[in-house]
Amino acid sequence: MEKNEQKKNEQELLTVTSGDMFQPYDWSVGLFGSRFLAELRDNKKIYGIKCPKCGKVYVPPRKICGSCYVAMDEFVPLSDEGEVYVCTIVHFGFVDPETGKQRPVPYGYAFIKLDGADTCLTHFVNSTDPEKFKVGARVKAVFEEKRKGSIADIKHFDIID
Ligand SMILES: [Zn+2]
Repeated sequence: MEKNEQKKNEQELLTVTSGDMFQPYDWSVGLFGSRFLAELRDNKKIYGIKCPKCGKVYVPPRKICGSCYVAMDEFVPLSDEGEVYVCTIVHFGFVDPETGKQRPVPYGYAFIKLDGADTCLTHFVNSTDPEKFKVGARVKAVFEEKRKGSIADIKHFDIID
């Protein structure tokens, strides 16, 4: 391929800045999500939902058991303590979709299996120490003082062992 022909096939990628935009929006979290978030906000309680057939407890609550395909409606209170099931220490900053702002790095993030639950809740853990923040570590939820009915009403989890 001739040098000129090769250059002709290369495409320069341009970007255009048309200004900053802000578009607030709300969406329904449904009946089960509403009850889950209202309990966090009003009572600092974490609720799961139990399958009537297999007994599996899901958190956050969902309508249908993923194993049995039956409807669930039995809300069960869970402990605010649990165990780190999977974890990572985030060092690469990115915009947090919950806040629209970049969360300072590093920070801990984990799948947490609360006592009494069979599924995991994902949340921040207040540790970046790999000696303490690891699979199997015991953690406890820390709630915000002023709660709004959001998963962020749990500020983070502290390591307790
Ligand atoms: Zn089930």
